[in-house]
Amino acid sequence: MPVASPVRMHLRCWGARGTCPSPGVRTVRYGGNTPCMEVRTSDGHVIVLDAGTGIRALGMVLDADAARPPVHIFLSHRHGDHVQGLAHFAPLIRADYRVHMACGNAEAGVLRTFVEMLLSPPLFPLLDGVARGLCAVDWDDALGVPVGESVRVSRVAAQHPGGASIVVVHDAQGLAIAYAPDNELSYASDDADVMAWRDALAERLRGVKVLVHDATYRDAELAAHVGWGHSSAEEATRFALQCGAEQLVLFHHHPDRADDEVDEMVSRCREVVVECGGELRVTAAWEGMALVV
Ligand SMILES: [Zn+2]
Ligand SMILES: [Zn+2]
Repeated sequence: MPVASPVRMHLRCWGARGTCPSPGVRTVRYGGNTPCMEVRTSDGHVIVLDAGTGIRALGMVLDADAARPPVHIFLSHRHGDHVQGLAHFAPLIRADYRVHMACGNAEAGVLRTFVEMLLSPPLFPLLDGVARGLCAVDWDDALGVPVGESVRVSRVAAQHPGGASIVVVHDAQGLAIAYAPDNELSYASDDADVMAWRDALAERLRGVKVLVHDATYRDAELAAHVGWGHSSAEEATRFALQCGAEQLVLFHHHPDRADDEVDEMVSRCREVVVECGGELRVTAAWEGMALVV
């Protein structure tokens, strides 16, 4: 008799939009908040992937939790859409909250200075005690950052202007979640270095259960955006198949992409899977989406 796999982690989306917030009637189903994902580990730690405007609502939930679960924020990079919610994240304002934070391309001292800059005039009113509980940490390339008893968070370099990280969450069973919000896969490029980088990346992520990947563009839009640091939904699908991922979550939706267009994008990506003879599940991230990993 098959043995049910244990419930391990919960992944929840608080913001799936890339580039800038885009509220309105055309984006109401997938949402207009910028990137933020929450991972709850089985031992109660809260891993936060990016601090776009979606992090504000997560902060309200955490603020109401008297248990004060340990919070670990991992920033893929410091572009505005990935950090603009930080000043409105309640645990950073509370003296009794400890917030650990790491960023792929900023060591701890640089990261602390950056957060203090975001939370001070002229960007933010001077409030006593803000970010007192912040603990900026270095993100060691080889070891990653341990979270609780059985989870480790590592990173892999993405292809993105100024640098960005793909955040990888490992649990006791192996590769659980890879979060690649801003990453240019460049399948149209015949540059040998680019192809070698992408193949090596697919090897690093081989067998990942859930791949959350940049799907800013459609294939037809790519030619006008070479070097902008993003991928098409069709490329994300091809890459997820290359990795042997179980599930692909299309992410970082273009601010102009209406809900119906995201639906069409998902349909096309599912066709790509069938054409390739794959078994990959494809969805598009929406605010409130919850997965058990
Ligand atoms: Zn972005
Ligand atoms: Zn970016």
